[in-house]
Amino acid sequence: MSTDPTRTPPYPDEAPRSEALLEQARRVIPGGVNSPVRAFRSVGGAPRFMRRGRGPWLEDADGRRYVDLICSWGPMILGHAHPDVLAAVREAAADGFSFGTPTEREVLLAEEIVHRVEPVASVRLVNSGTEATMSALRVARGFTGRSAVVKFAGCYHGHVDALLASAGSGVATFALPDSPGVPASSAGETIVLPYNDVAALEAAFAERGDEIAAVITEAAAGNMGVVPPEPGFTEALLRVTRAHGALLISDEVMTGFRCSPSGWFGVEGPYATGAPDLFTFGKVMGGGFPTAAFGGRADVMAMLAPDGPVYQAGTLSGNPVASAAGLATLRGCTPEVYERLDVVAHALADAVAEAFTRHSMPHRIQWAGSMFSVFFREGRVRDFGEAKEQDAAAYGRFFHAMLRRGVHLPPSCYESWFVSAAHDDTAVDHVVGAIHASAAEIAQVDMGRSPA
Ligand SMILES: *Cc1c(COP(=O)(O)O)cnc(C)c1O
Repeated sequence: MSTDPTRTPPYPDEAPRSEALLEQARRVIPGGVNSPVRAFRSVGGAPRFMRRGRGPWLEDADGRRYVDLICSWGPMILGHAHPDVLAAVREAAADGFSFGTPTEREVLLAEEIVHRVEPVASVRLVNSGTEATMSALRVARGFTGRSAVVKFAGCYHGHVDALLASAGSGVATFALPDSPGVPASSAGETIVLPYNDVAALEAAFAERGDEIAAVITEAAAGNMGVVPPEPGFTEALLRVTRAHGALLISDEVMTGFRCSPSGWFGVEGPYATGAPDLFTFGKVMGGGFPTAAFGGRADVMAMLAPDGPVYQAGTLSGNPVASAAGLATLRGCTPEVYERLDVVAHALADAVAEAFTRHSMPHRIQWAGSMFSVFFREGRVRDFGEAKEQDAAAYGRFFHAMLRRGVHLPPSCYESWFVSAAHDDTAVDHVVGAIHASAAEIAQVDMGRSPA
């Protein structure tokens, strides 16, 4: 990594090399990015193009260094280019990249997942979290012979047509498409309910229970900021789905192998009422490579081709290099790794609480295991409506104050802050210092703007 002393923080807001790359990218890639949140639209400015990462650090095209608090949106739980993962990837790649036949490495990765999450009898490997939720829905529909699905507002399950839907006006009415290109017929099979609302769930099932194939939920929501299920919510999901012959799909793409060695299930489960029927995984289990999985009950998974009639496939599914990266990452997730994640996350959250309190900045920190996020508002956040009642503009100012100081936060206030076990004391101290300085800076701006 560069140690060029002319490129130490504070960095200017202009980032010439990143800006030039963005312009170049825009000519050939819509918006210049391959996933919208990367574009910085909600915080403003040009996204930083990264050229390498090592441990907790990223280095951008202008040679500036940042402590990384995105961690690729979760996968880099061991930090960037971890030596063991790198060695596993090199070894696998040297054996060839993809064969279109079964390989041993994908079996080992599947075993690692099945052994960790007790209710998961088998998994099918896919290439993204989106594919995992899409396929889980298909197998749930095939198993139940029903087509409707319940999801919760503010939960993100990838860009599956049926799951890109917003709540209609009534609680149990079918949903409206969230995006042009999603047919009303796809979204129309989706019922969107408020998260953590058992009464709304019961009402929806009372009305349409025999049409509903599955409820899909984030095991603990992380895509509206971190909003864990209220005590008893997951049990209610299990009870209601069982009573009506529907399946429960627990989306652990973000929480899986991060919140605990067995994900959110390891934090909250096992449940008195049973277990989710299907789980989806991604992010951490790929170690930074495109691999993901869905799995669960043996009789449900038996519906999949070639054993059963539900079709699902993938040219690169179970890719040996990706499987090697995922396996090395999961095996590297020792108890010490989870302890370190906890220590780092709490050090950062404590610094936010202290600095924001000192400068009278409204804030609320919420947790799911060591996953946390900072809401720019006061008071408990239980659902998407409450998550939206925050000062997104203040977050944008804070984000840029941190970026100038060499800390790369997620470029949206609706995201979890991701840490890794490679965040050592140097990195943590750097972030803590930046939090205090940034809070002081933006509090001053906000005071200047207040009408008083
Ligand atoms: C990231 C995410 C997905 C989508 O995964 P991709 O690999 O981006 O397709 C699905 N569900 C949850 C909970 C996620 O956080």
